[in-house]
Amino acid sequence: MENNRYKYDVVVCGGGTSGVAAAIASARTGAKTLLIERLGVLGGQMNVSGPPGFSYAHLFNDHGEQIIAGILEETHARLLKENHASPHNLNEYRAGSGYIFSFVDPEWWGLLIFQMMTENNVHLLLHSLVVDVIKNGNNVNGVIVENANGREYIEAKVVIECTGEGDIAARAGCDFELLSREDNEPHSLCFTMDGVDWNEFRDYVRAHPDQIQPRGGTRDPEKRYALLRKIEDVEDYGDCLGFYDIMNEAIKNGDWHPYAGMGFFMAPRPDGNVIQAHFQHSAQIGNLWSCDAWDLTAAEIECRRQIQIAAKAFKKYMPGFKNAYIVKIGMELRLREGRRIMGDYVLKTEDVGRGARFYDCIGKNNFAAGGVHVADTRTLASSKLGGAIVPDGGSYDMPYRMLVPRKIENLLIAGKHVSAERPAYQRFLQETMVTGQAAGAAAGLCVKFGVTPRQLEEEKYVKELQDVLRSQGVILEGVR
Ligand SMILES: Cc1cc2nc3c(=O)[nH]c(=O)nc-3n(C[C@H](O)[C@H](O)[C@H](O)COP(=O)(O)OP(=O)(O)OC[C@H]3O[C@@H](n4cnc5c(N)ncnc54)[C@H](O)[C@@H]3O)c2cc1C
Repeated sequence: MENNRYKYDVVVCGGGTSGVAAAIASARTGAKTLLIERLGVLGGQMNVSGPPGFSYAHLFNDHGEQIIAGILEETHARLLKENHASPHNLNEYRAGSGYIFSFVDPEWWGLLIFQMMTENNVHLLLHSLVVDVIKNGNNVNGVIVENANGREYIEAKVVIECTGEGDIAARAGCDFELLSREDNEPHSLCFTMDGVDWNEFRDYVRAHPDQIQPRGGTRDPEKRYALLRKIEDVEDYGDCLGFYDIMNEAIKNGDWHPYAGMGFFMAPRPDGNVIQAHFQHSAQIGNLWSCDAWDLTAAEIECRRQIQIAAKAFKKYMPGFKNAYIVKIGMELRLREGRRIMGDYVLKTEDVGRGARFYDCIGKNNFAAGGVHVADTRTLASSKLGGAIVPDGGSYDMPYRMLVPRKIENLLIAGKHVSAERPAYQRFLQETMVTGQAAGAAAGLCVKFGVTPRQLEEEKYVKELQDVLRSQGVILEGVR
C-alpha cells in the first residue's frame, strides 16, 4: 500500500460501456483515474458478450430530437467518419417510436475505446478481478484485486462500481433489490451468422409482413405492413423477430427448442458492405440468478446446446439462410437482469410515465418502462410489475441521486444496476453510457472539491456537475 503506483483519485471497476464512459469522463476532469477490468478487452456486453443488434438505440425522442449524446455520440461520430458506423437511422418504419438505431461496428468500437483510453490518459489494469473494497466503517477507500501478481490493494478517493452485476457494491454492504429466480429475465448467449441471401430474406418479409413482431413505430398493422413491404435496404428493419409460422412448424418437427423466439438483429459492417444476422434471443435460459456462478455454469451449457439447434433450424427453415454460417459466439452469457443497487433516489415507473424533471438531471431518456423478456413464451411480454411510456413522446430526466448508493460513502454506481424500480430498469447501452459518464464526471468533481458523492447532491455542486457534463457534450435541456 506504500507504493504510489497503487494510489488513484478515482478507480472504476469494470470496463463495459458504463465503465469506459466513467473512466473517460473522470480523467477529463483532471482526476488520476484507473480502470480495472477482469478481461483483456474493454466493452463488456457491447462487443465481448454482445454486440447488441442495433448497437446504439433510443438516442432520439419520438419527435426526432436527439436526447442522448456525450461520449456515446463521440464514438458514433468518429466511427461514422471511418465508415465503421451507419448514420442515425430515422427511417419511416421506426419513426414515431424513438426505437431507432445507430449502428456501430462492435469490433471497431472496441478498438476505438482502447484508443480513447490513451488519448484521455486513463490508466488501465486489465486481467484483474476486483474482489472486494477497502473499507473503514461505511467509507470505501479503495479496492482489492486478484490477478497474476497475487492480491493487490489499490487506494482511491472515489470508487465507481461498473461491473454490471453490482458484485462489488454488494460486498461493500450496499442495499440492493433482486427479484426471485422465477421473475428474473432470462439471459442469452449471443451468436452471429454471415452468408445470408438478403434478397431472398427480404422477399419473404415482403410477402409475409404479418410474421414480423411489431417493434415500435405505427400501431396500425396495415400501415406497418405497407412500410415493411417498401423497405429496400434490409438494414432499415433494424431487427426481425417473430416468424411465427416458421417457428411453429420447426417446433412441430422437433427442430426448435421451446425456450426462445426466432429472430435476429441486423449487424452491418459498413466498410465491408456486409450485413450479418445477430441473434440475441434464440439461445436463452430463465429461472436463474446472474449472481450465482453455479446457475451461470448450467446456463452456459444449456445455451450452447440451444445455439446448435437454432443455427440448424435457421438454415433449414428461414428463407435466405441456407448457406449461412456462424461467425461469432459470445464468449460468455449476456446477463439481462440482476441486482439493482438502491440509491438516494429510486427511479420510478411513474417518473417515466410523467416525463419527470429533476434538479439533478444528468441525462435524458425516452426508453419506456416495463417491457420484459420471458423465456417460456418466446415473446416480449409486459411486466406484471407495471410499465409506462413517456408522455407525448418526449423524455424524462435521469437524476444524479440514482448513482449514489444509500449509506456507503465514496462509492458511485453506474451501468445497468443503478437505482430504479424494476420496470424503470436503466439497462440499455445508451443508458449505461449516460450514467457512466455522469458518475465519472461526478467522481472527478468530488476529488476537486474534496466532498463525497453524497455531498455532491447539494444544488451548488450539481450545477458544477451539469456544467462539466454540458462541456462534455451531454444533452441536459432544450428537448421535449
Ligand atoms: C441478451 C441481451 C440483449 C441486449 N440487447 C440490447 C440491445 O439490443 N440494445 C441495448 O441498448 N442494450 C441491450 N442489452 C443491454 C445492454 O447490452 C447491457 O445492459 C449493457 O451493455 C450493460 O453495460 P454495463 O456497463 O452496465 O455492464 P457490462 O457491459 O456487463 O460491463 C461490465 C464489465 O465489468 C467487468 N467486470 C465484472 N465484474 C468485474 C470484477 N469483479 N472485476 C473487474 N471487472 C469486472 C466485466 O468483464 C465487463 O467488462 C442487452 C442485454 C442482453 C443481456
